[in-house]
Amino acid sequence: TGQIVVSGLTKQYKNVRAVDNLSFTVEPGRVTGFLGPNGAGKTTTLRMLLNLVTPTAGAATIGGHRYADLTAPLRSVGAVLEASSAHKGRTGLNHLRVICAAAGLPRRRADEALALVGLTPAARRKFKGYSLGMKQRLGIAAAMLGNPQVLILDEPANGLDPEGIRWMRGFLKGLAAEGRTVLVSSHLLSEMQLLADDVVIIAAGRLVQQGPVDQVIGSM
Ligand code: ADP
Ligand code: ADP
Repeated sequence: TGQIVVSGLTKQYKNVRAVDNLSFTVEPGRVTGFLGPNGAGKTTTLRMLLNLVTPTAGAATIGGHRYADLTAPLRSVGAVLEASSAHKGRTGLNHLRVICAAAGLPRRRADEALALVGLTPAARRKFKGYSLGMKQRLGIAAAMLGNPQVLILDEPANGLDPEGIRWMRGFLKGLAAEGRTVLVSSHLLSEMQLLADDVVIIAAGRLVQQGPVDQVIGSM
């Protein structure tokens, strides 16, 4: 299954403890909001989950495995880390086909992923002409190529217009309703109230609270 377990996770940069002995769990079938002010350590934590940053101490597992030990990472975990970028002159469809080829995924997955995020009409337009919202959708499409059980998104609502945010909300709720694990960071409590089932709140690298969104916000 796609349970995420974070256990004693710590990242020390030269003079900054970005993440400090952080432990929490994330359950499948729910949208979990990872909430904290800018600089709280959200990005560093998500990057440690994905084996992009090496922890100073502690560990994180996804479905019982460390990311580095997953046999088919793209089929298990999708990640949307920052405003999606692609070769400017490439079309959205070609961008996804390149990833499929590199990852050994069938080419048709590129078309399916574009349809999933509503980008089929823009499939053959060049990336440089995409709006920010379209770039975000393309980033999500890329993360969905392997049909992952777990989706991890770092501030996906950043820079989106209200329509884009509404779309994102519905899309992520739909993934959770299918039984997937959805972990999404934000610095906006208001957005999490509309999106998340559970929240994990951190500040200065440490856990503040974890639980169902209604309970946690009711107790604040
Ligand atoms: P958030 O995503 O919640 O805004 P980050 O994880 O980006 O927080 O950052 C947490 C803290 O760690 C901040 O003080 C940030 O400046 C620091 N930090 C992040 N990455 C690095 C790095 N590569 N080197 C040094 N400090 C870093
Ligand atoms: P590391 O190899 O330590 O994980 P990165 O490759 O992420 O570091 O970043 C290289 C350097 O850039 C860091 O050691 C740090 O000095 C600086 N840096 C990167 N991101 C940040 C940040 N968010 N805040 C402060 N410094 C950063």
